[in-house]
Amino acid sequence: MRPRILFVILDAFPFNGLSSSSTPTLAGLAREGGWSQSGGQSVLSASTYPNHASFVTGVGPERHGVLASRAPVDGEWKPAREVPLASPTLFEDCRAADLRAVGLFGDQNLVHVCGALEADVHWPPQGQLPDSCARGLLGYGADQAVVEAAASIELNAADLAVIQLDEVDTVRHLRGPDAPESREQYTATDAALGELLESLRGQWAETLVIVVSDHDMEPVEPGAVDLHAEALDRGLSVHVEHDGTACWAVGDTTEEELLGLPSVDGVQWVADRHWILWGQPGQQYGIDFGLAGQHGSPRTARQLAVVGGGHAVAGPLGDWLRRETPTGTDWAPIIRHNLGLLVGGA
Ligand SMILES: [Zn+2]
Repeated sequence: MRPRILFVILDAFPFNGLSSSSTPTLAGLAREGGWSQSGGQSVLSASTYPNHASFVTGVGPERHGVLASRAPVDGEWKPAREVPLASPTLFEDCRAADLRAVGLFGDQNLVHVCGALEADVHWPPQGQLPDSCARGLLGYGADQAVVEAAASIELNAADLAVIQLDEVDTVRHLRGPDAPESREQYTATDAALGELLESLRGQWAETLVIVVSDHDMEPVEPGAVDLHAEALDRGLSVHVEHDGTACWAVGDTTEEELLGLPSVDGVQWVADRHWILWGQPGQQYGIDFGLAGQHGSPRTARQLAVVGGGHAVAGPLGDWLRRETPTGTDWAPIIRHNLGLLVGGA
């Protein structure tokens, strides 16, 4: 029997933030299926938009095109929500297979970043939060607003529901990765997840639940490095794109040249002419928004990964999580396999 799949992204939820006392919903899912105690591996940069695009396509940023919070479109760097995905999404695959798909996102930009206009139902409408919507302190939809949006549709009639809850990200950014307020938010977001699951309990034996996070978070010091200026200063012929505690360098350069920049501590080659750079712990790039926590570097690349639900496939998937390190590009193929979807409907 084909499962109905609920794929939930708890934005910036720590990979090891699961416990039976503080996050009983996640702990209950982990008992049914399993979870990755050492965490999954995000794509780089370890930020929201590249990882969500990878969740729904199953390919890395160098293929789907959403490199960071901005990405190039015809040579011009634009906000991620304006970047058309260069790889088929689960929403398109469901449409081609006549399956019902739903995409609900606290971070309104994700409607566009994930191509959710192709879903049967998406929220918020056209990626614009309604005026009446409850918001977190960074202006994204509150967890409760997403829960209410889910309650207003027949979630149990969806073959695939992709749902993102944003508030842990907001609180960890503002208060710090390990602040008491952040730990309180884990419990609150776990309760919101519990509310989402309630409407599916009547068909639990048909339901597979996958819960992940997109990235972790690290503390940052006040101030931010302008690596773009450093690269210009050294005469490097690269575009430097700041993304929290990481940067992309795109252009004709070498690892040696990039490691020679004063504020670069590590370099990873990703694809032709594309590198990820990062600095010492505590250093962020671009603009100091006054945040206590940031993400982007490989230090923040571990993802929560939990599977549960009443469907028989939850057990084997849980065993796999105990054995292997899942990556951000593994989930779309797993979902396609279990729903019988073909990539791009082909
Ligand atoms: Zn995020």
